[in-house]
Amino acid sequence: MADPIRIALVGATGRMGQALARLVARDPSLALVGGIGGHEGEAACDIGCPVVHSAGDAAEVIRGADAVVDFSSPELLSGLLGAQAEALAGRALVVGTTGLGDGALELLARAAERSPVLRAANFSVGVNLLLALAERAAAVLGPEYDVEVVETHHRRKVDAPSGTALALGEAIAAGRGVALADVRVDGRSGRPGERPRGEIGFHALRGGDVVGEHRVGFFGERERVELAHVAQDRALFAEGALRAARWLAGKPAGEYTMRDVLGLA
Ligand code: NAD
Repeated sequence: MADPIRIALVGATGRMGQALARLVARDPSLALVGGIGGHEGEAACDIGCPVVHSAGDAAEVIRGADAVVDFSSPELLSGLLGAQAEALAGRALVVGTTGLGDGALELLARAAERSPVLRAANFSVGVNLLLALAERAAAVLGPEYDVEVVETHHRRKVDAPSGTALALGEAIAAGRGVALADVRVDGRSGRPGERPRGEIGFHALRGGDVVGEHRVGFFGERERVELAHVAQDRALFAEGALRAARWLAGKPAGEYTMRDVLGLA
């Protein structure tokens, strides 16, 4: 059998990090070589891999890996891309962290000059199919149909709208041939007035332990088309991220998407 692909996890002690660690431990084609991240008082990585807490201490863990899988925070990811650019060069980088600002995106683009990089707001196969369906629906239905994107997540989620909701907005905008920034509206309150044609509205619900739900409504004059995805277990995202890591390891430097991995491009 081929040597296992060596994985380093960024955010290893978080919800996603632990889901990933459990899957890697069960998969003989993968080996967990270490974790990065963790706040004071958080449980240590429970599968016995070494975990370093700061980006500055991560060189050795990264150099031992073929693929670095990140589900952490924009701060830790940016810190890592800045402090460990040399160690990361040539290694596959799979990024699931959402809420990235321009600075982090710029650092990722720079990393992609030396490494294969895949960033996805959502690693589920179903959501990536939904993105393709939403783009197609937007192109076929046209701007006469009002589009609203509604997402629901657990109460601990810190960014809104979700990265997946924004990716859906990007797909819909692409289907219509417009820039999302020109038509995006986040929520409504007070007296926003009549809804202009062409807007894409975003609404974020937060509560309990909801893993992630996304609904896109295309509201016409006499009909409504709805597309929906409901994630039932976050292992879904972990499975998709590891599928991406297996696919990405050894690829030439550049930026890739889940559409490439799933053959939806
Ligand atoms: P979490 O808070 O449970 O875990 C984050 C981990 O990163 C923690 O272990 C924390 O200690 C560590 N961390 C964060 N900032 C740090 C810092 N500055 N220094 C040291 N350690 C730090 O969060 P989670 O639910 O696992 O989600 C992590 C990220 O993944 C979020 O951005 C979330 O939106 C995203 N996410 C993406 C997908 C997807 O499919 N792309 C799916 C689920 C979650």
